[in-house]
Amino acid sequence: MPKFGAHRTSDVSDAPEERSEVAALMPMVRRIVGARVSDRAAADDLVQETLVRVLAAADRVQPGMLEPYAIRTARNLIASGWKEQDRHKRNQHRLVDLRPPAAPDEEMLQREEHDAIAQALAHLSDQERQTLLAHEVSGQDTRSLALEQGSTAGAVAAELNRTRARLRVEYLLALEGTEPPTDRCRPVLRALSSGDRRRQREVGADLHVLECAMCARLSEPLIRRGQQREDEVRIRITADGDIVLARQGARELADRIGFSRTDLTVIATAVSELARNIVRFAGEGEIFVELIEMPRCGVRVVARDAGPGIADVEQALADGFSTYHGLGLGLPGARRLMDEFTVDSEMGRGTTVTMTKWRQKG
Ligand SMILES: [Zn+2]
Repeated sequence: MPKFGAHRTSDVSDAPEERSEVAALMPMVRRIVGARVSDRAAADDLVQETLVRVLAAADRVQPGMLEPYAIRTARNLIASGWKEQDRHKRNQHRLVDLRPPAAPDEEMLQREEHDAIAQALAHLSDQERQTLLAHEVSGQDTRSLALEQGSTAGAVAAELNRTRARLRVEYLLALEGTEPPTDRCRPVLRALSSGDRRRQREVGADLHVLECAMCARLSEPLIRRGQQREDEVRIRITADGDIVLARQGARELADRIGFSRTDLTVIATAVSELARNIVRFAGEGEIFVELIEMPRCGVRVVARDAGPGIADVEQALADGFSTYHGLGLGLPGARRLMDEFTVDSEMGRGTTVTMTKWRQKG
């Protein structure tokens, strides 16, 4: 008997066997997709979409048949031109952010920018540059970088953050076209760039910026960027395009603390499902993603909306219960993917879903 209007909270743990069985298929799916789709973002999306469909069918498919089912699903998705459709959608979304039409001096500005990036990269050590490019350009994840370097994924992620902060500073200095006036400038600018408040105090950043005209000028774009905290991301959800932004945002954030590629896909998939629910049922809401360190390293996702609410949370979380018609996993699917999952819903007031994924040691 559904209890309408009740304030319901449900704490549910997951079904780890099924999740790990599907997760074990990921490298194989990734190989199949990677061999046929060269665009990395499109390949990631395809692998994720395959995972969604395999998980959705996991109860229906006989044990041992999951692998052939996954292979067939991946191939069908590729053959159906899903990639092009999705890319078209993504590009449509990107149009919003396009810069104004190129002005006559645009080409010169791009040239300057290109030179400044090259100069900035030259300030990094070979190791820093190689790691950064392997990660940002070749898409190598922090875990495999750590294996190569005999380090840990967390340490590699921290080093990447420091390297990015330095690169931003060197880029701005290269655009200035002169060396900074004092030895204090670089440490101050790096501390501002990384948003590291403890380091800013150590190098006396506040005082220096008052005394040094160049650092005062450069600190403005560095701080503006630093205000978006490095360990959280908030995405407003109002349309389908925001679903893509939410899952990319969550994926990029989780990547910084060294989640495995499989877990990144799992997290992105769960975030997709919650964002999709918001668009379908509430119309608008937000997804907030943050990195957490206590009691363990992990990522926490909070999806909030002020929509109609869920009448019966336990029923909505039951396996096989589909919250809407069509593809997708809905709440039960997202719950299966994550380590912790809580739904708080009140009729007429809205729904908050909180879910957490812990990083495996490594
Ligand atoms: Zn200075």
